[in-house]
Amino acid sequence: MMDDMSAHQSVAAALDAADPLSTFADRFSPGPDGVIYLDGNSLGRPPKAVQAAVRDLMEREWPTDLIQGWDRWIDLPTAAGDLLGEAVLGARPGEVLVCDSTSVNLYKLAAAALDAAPAGRRVLITDNDNFPTDRYILEGIAHSAGARFQLIDTDIDEGVDPGVIADAIGDDTALVCLSHVAYRSGALADMRAVTEIVHAAGGLVLWDLCHSAGSVDIDLTGDGVDLAVGCTYKYLNAGPGAPAFLYVRRELQQRLRQPIWGWFSQADQFAMGQEYRPHDGINRFAVGTPSIPGVVAVKAAVELVAEAGIAAIRAKSLQMVAHAHALCEEQLAPLGFRVATPTDPQRRGGHLTLHHERAWQISQAMRKANVIPDYRAPDRIRLGFAPLYNSFSDIDEAVERIATIVRTEAHLSFSAQPSRVT
Ligand SMILES: *Cc1c(COP(=O)(O)O)cnc(C)c1O
Repeated sequence: MMDDMSAHQSVAAALDAADPLSTFADRFSPGPDGVIYLDGNSLGRPPKAVQAAVRDLMEREWPTDLIQGWDRWIDLPTAAGDLLGEAVLGARPGEVLVCDSTSVNLYKLAAAALDAAPAGRRVLITDNDNFPTDRYILEGIAHSAGARFQLIDTDIDEGVDPGVIADAIGDDTALVCLSHVAYRSGALADMRAVTEIVHAAGGLVLWDLCHSAGSVDIDLTGDGVDLAVGCTYKYLNAGPGAPAFLYVRRELQQRLRQPIWGWFSQADQFAMGQEYRPHDGINRFAVGTPSIPGVVAVKAAVELVAEAGIAAIRAKSLQMVAHAHALCEEQLAPLGFRVATPTDPQRRGGHLTLHHERAWQISQAMRKANVIPDYRAPDRIRLGFAPLYNSFSDIDEAVERIATIVRTEAHLSFSAQPSRVT
């Protein structure tokens, strides 16, 4: 008779054998030996195609083409945006631009929405568990525009409750900005329901897709979303600090004017005219010269995701979270862990969050044991599963190493004081 552990191993082996995405792991640069990387939700691993594309730019295109390279490079941010829109976001051509950072894009779009709101709509709403940069930027916009910043309450495990939003908004709301997947718990918000609630009250909605782009199947068009931003270095694997993206629904573009009147947003940029006249299309949300190594990386990274298909990625992601959840309930719950991610698959993103009162010490011991998670204050460990390179067996091995750490109290020899970068 099999014991529990080997029964699970056979489950994992069967899931791996049936995994249609299993060959994609070879498309990534090999990681250090023996390391189980469960932090693709913070920084994805490097796809070989991204490395090759950046190398080609550096070693061939730039040295050969020099300034003439711009004849092609100038259109890359919209080309990469269209590809991302089609393959990952459910957006139409001309609605997505790859540029700047998520923080800067959020600033541009939220400020534009406030500026375009009818008189009397002067409130910006987000939730108190939204990612810090989102809260700070909205508060900063409200501060400089003389508008009001309103925080609604969100349970840090369950995520955004549409009912709380419905209660909070009214005829003074200009914009509601929320994260699609909560960075801490991995709770998935109901994009369509929330968007409808905001629209019924006459406001605009801005979704932060950082933790869902490349992991969850998103339908910005179908869900009627107005605005969105997100990064490309998490599940999209474009590399540390790779440029972010912004999305503006086609029908809204002419009405919105972003606050940074850079020359890349000018209608006839190279006429170098006296007067600022914003571009007709998505380029009106650009600012200055794009990072071409960054955009090249994004394009190659998105091509890989497109090849795998976001539906297959989402299907495997949900299976991975469910498999990990079952294992954690069985093997880690008796050791003081609690799963802090919603149990309903419809309400989950791509990572599983564990609560433990010694989470920081355990996360350090995990790194020592070659399992890389990340820690989020105050007492959470996130296990991020990247369907393109993690296997089900990785999950079993990781859970077993975590259980061993806690059982042998190996974590108690690590500092209880979190370091600057967690
Ligand atoms: C990672 C993340 C960001 C990051 O913003 P940057 O400008 O790239 O630093 C923003 N919002 C959310 C929800 C994130 O998870």
